[in-house]
Formats: sequence, structure tokens, C-alpha cells
Amino acid sequence: MKLILLGPPGAGKGTQAKRLQDRYGVVQISTGDMLRAEVSAGSEVGLQAKAVMEAGQLVSDDILIRMLAGRIERADCAPGFILDGFPRTVPQAQALDAMLTSKSMQIDMVVELKVDDAALTDRIAGRYTCKACGAGYHDEFQKPVIAGVCDKCGGTAFVRRADDNRETVGARLAAYHAQTAPILPHYAAQGKLREVDGMADIDAVTVELTALLDTLVAA
Ligand code: ADP
Ligand code: ADP
Ligand code: ZN
Repeated sequence: MKLILLGPPGAGKGTQAKRLQDRYGVVQISTGDMLRAEVSAGSEVGLQAKAVMEAGQLVSDDILIRMLAGRIERADCAPGFILDGFPRTVPQAQALDAMLTSKSMQIDMVVELKVDDAALTDRIAGRYTCKACGAGYHDEFQKPVIAGVCDKCGGTAFVRRADDNRETVGARLAAYHAQTAPILPHYAAQGKLREVDGMADIDAVTVELTALLDTLVAA
């Protein structure tokens, strides 16, 4: 299974990708997580990306395309993958097609998680993750069962992203509409695009997604 999860910042891509990777035995590839790891490591790429990310803009296609090419070569991608946050521009989508074609592979399905801009600001402003295992939470919409304790690993330290603030959200949404939404017709033309209502609650979105993906597994 080779899936692309598309949608604006805060749509629920990461939340759903984590659930789907457990269910289907494929890996989540989050380019945002990969870039944040480069920033933390203080690598060359990280140094170039940090300010761009904090301003809510997109990191250059060149960097992202090289990063993704290296990632999908790795053995853990053989059973399949879920791309979360890539492609985000038309040149990235074209490079991905070329990359996969050269390996005689192709994307099976592209799912757009549709969420209104108004709901995204609250999702992003309330987002946090477990420092130890990366499990995602929300101040209102996805609280741990025991306050302050990660459901998955029992960790008690949590982190918030530097770009998850109300000031940067506007720039990130503008980047989505101007640079990422134009890739939807690219996949619609290939007959691969499906829509899921991302305004529904987290479990309901998972039910809709798995109904779509089960058709791929059964095929
Ligand atoms: P993305 O990866 O698309 O940026 P996330 O999966 O990180 O989005 O979700 C953003 C925030 O919104 C997280 O704090 C998450 O817990 C919460 N969230 C995700 N899906 C939903 C949903 N369907 N309803 C309400 N909150 C959600
Ligand atoms: P979100 O969860 O809000 O959708 P991500 O974690 O996917 O955000 O990405 C965070 C930031 O990393 C983006 O705002 C952008 O600066 C950078 N980034 C991630 N993926 C890409 C990409 N494919 N192309 C360009 N920049 C990217
Ligand atoms: Zn944890």
C-alpha cells in the first residue's frame, strides 16, 4: 500500500497516519518530523530549514525531494508507506511520480482530509506530543486518559512545536492554499484522489479511511 495523506496543517494527517500504520503494517513518512529531527540535530539541512519552518513557509523542493528519495529507498518501506506532509508542491508531486516510476512502483491512493480553515487554528494551537514516544494529543480534543501521563508509554514530558502558534497559522494556511492545493488536480487526473470529511471526530475519520483502504487491500 502506497498512500498519500493530503490536507492542511492540523487536518489530522499525523494522527490518522499513526493509526493506519499499525493497522496495515506500513510506515508513516512525515517530512515535517524528518525536518524537525534535522533541526534538533543541527545538521546542514536543519540550519537551512529552521527559520523557514518557524515562519510557516515551505522548505525548498530541492531539499525535500532529496530527503524523500533517500527515505523510500530504505528497507522498511518495502511493504508500503503513508506519506504525511509530502508532496506539498506540484514539482514535489512530479518528482515523486518520476521516482516511483523508475522503481516500477506507483501511488495507490491519495486521500484529501477536508477541514475548514476556522477549525484548524484551534487544532494547531492545542496540539502537543509526548516527548518520549511522539504520541499526539490535544488540549481539548484528545486528552490523555490520566492527565499529564502518555497513554502509550507512560511518559510525563510533553512538547509543543515552535511553529504551532496562532501567529504562524495564517502563513501556513496561505502556503497550503497557494502551493499544496494545486496538486489535487494532478492526482484527480490520475483517478487516485478520494475525499474524507476531516471535520468528524478522530475515530469517525479513522472508520472512513479504513473503509477506503480496505478496498485496496482486498483488490
Ligand atoms: P496534521 O498532521 O494534519 O498537521 P495532527 O494529526 O497533528 O494534524 O492533528 C492536529 C491536532 O488536532 C492534534 O492535536 C490532534 O490531536 C487534533 N486532531 C486530529 N484529528 C482531529 C479530529 N478529527 N478532531 C479534533 N481534533 C483532531
Ligand atoms: P503540519 O503537521 O502542520 O501539516 P508538518 O509537520 O507536515 O506540518 O510540516 C511542518 C513544516 O515543515 C512546514 O510548515 C514546512 O515548513 C516544512 N515541511 C514539511 N514538509 C514539507 C514539504 N514536503 N515541503 C516543504 N516544506 C515542508
Ligand atoms: Zn508517550
